[in-house]
Amino acid sequence: MPTMNLPIPKIEGPTCFDAESCFFQSVAQKISFIDENLLKVLNSFRREISMEIPLRKDNGTLITIKAYRVQHNNARGPYKGGFRIHQNVTLEEVRMLANLMTWKGAVVNIPFGGAKGGITLDPKTLTRTELERLVRAYTYNLGDNVGPHTDIPAPDVNTGAQTMAWFYDEYAKSHSTDALAVVTGKPVGLGGSEGREEATGRGAMYTLREIAKDLKIDLSQTKILIEGFGNVGYHAARLIVEELKGKIVGVSTSKGGIYNPKGIDVKAAHDHYSKNGSLKGFPNVDHMTPGEFLFADCDILIPSALEGSIDNKVADKTNAQIIIEGANGPVTASANEILLDKRKVVAPGILANAGGVIVSYFEWVQNLQQFYWSHEEVNKKLEKIICNAYVNVRDQSRKNKISLRQAAYTIGLERVAQACILRGTGF
Ligand code: GLU
Repeated sequence: MPTMNLPIPKIEGPTCFDAESCFFQSVAQKISFIDENLLKVLNSFRREISMEIPLRKDNGTLITIKAYRVQHNNARGPYKGGFRIHQNVTLEEVRMLANLMTWKGAVVNIPFGGAKGGITLDPKTLTRTELERLVRAYTYNLGDNVGPHTDIPAPDVNTGAQTMAWFYDEYAKSHSTDALAVVTGKPVGLGGSEGREEATGRGAMYTLREIAKDLKIDLSQTKILIEGFGNVGYHAARLIVEELKGKIVGVSTSKGGIYNPKGIDVKAAHDHYSKNGSLKGFPNVDHMTPGEFLFADCDILIPSALEGSIDNKVADKTNAQIIIEGANGPVTASANEILLDKRKVVAPGILANAGGVIVSYFEWVQNLQQFYWSHEEVNKKLEKIICNAYVNVRDQSRKNKISLRQAAYTIGLERVAQACILRGTGF
């Protein structure tokens, strides 16, 4: 496979676990109009909400659960970003993800700032009624720190349309029933947008399509490996097959992956996963542990699970020439250096997984206008925004001889910094 004709610079500064801060620092220092004071503003968090939610279990026992909402920067518009429910959620992680949302919204030029939320719990340990009570308590505790023009949450890891419906309903009790725009990613029957569910995967698919066009790659002749088979990974896999005629050779969940160099029937695998809760027993494929999966032979790797999965070992060993970040922050800072040294093309998540927040923006606009669009209209508008953003990032990377990630950060940072300067914030 050809490699993209880009000189690859080294990321400057120490290699740190917190990849986002490393990428941010290396780019911010090079933007001449960002002075020390503005850098501090961009590096700080406007508001951090930390709570311990008491939750009554169905059996009568009382437990407490930690939860957060971090609002990073709102210079370009209301705070925006999903909230997740996962046992490994920490304040530090939520901060990093809030940061990413600020740059993501700016790279694709939608009028939002960045925020993120998280609840520290394995949702599988709760019943549906307990989960509903938890989401309602989280919403209630956020109070007026969220709102259609303040901060607009959305789905993320282990949260989805039903979660957003509960969130909206709880918020509406103390606000207004026309406050649909307080949250995006709602069910289509409750003010949700057509195409929102598949949007992040669709955005990753468009990013891959544009890169493949630039590199003159025939996707039907490549082996594509997708880590994660949730909302992002599944739809990316499905759409790559349906719309790009690409060949998916492997998909994985947190329990393990399946692999077949001749290609996998994505829909059948997804049906199996939905029915059984795992890919175990899926026929005519090799079964791999999560540890083995990322080393499987492939040309294109799409990490679509949690942050940090592409570490030094994977970066060192993977055959993939192209990495499309379907997840937020899947490549660690040091792994990123290894990949760049090996002249791999890495499409950063602040571009490649922006499809979700782009269609969230459409949902917000539709809710505010009470005027709804067709699925085709949504897809067309998403395609236009993400492809334009890709072209900007690619052109910037060619012009300045920097990686796609550095180019994306430069565009995002410049837009946010300009908004801060225009508003006078931090001066
Ligand atoms: N959780 C998604 C993300 O990380 C969607 C955010 C949104 O739609 O606000 O981009």
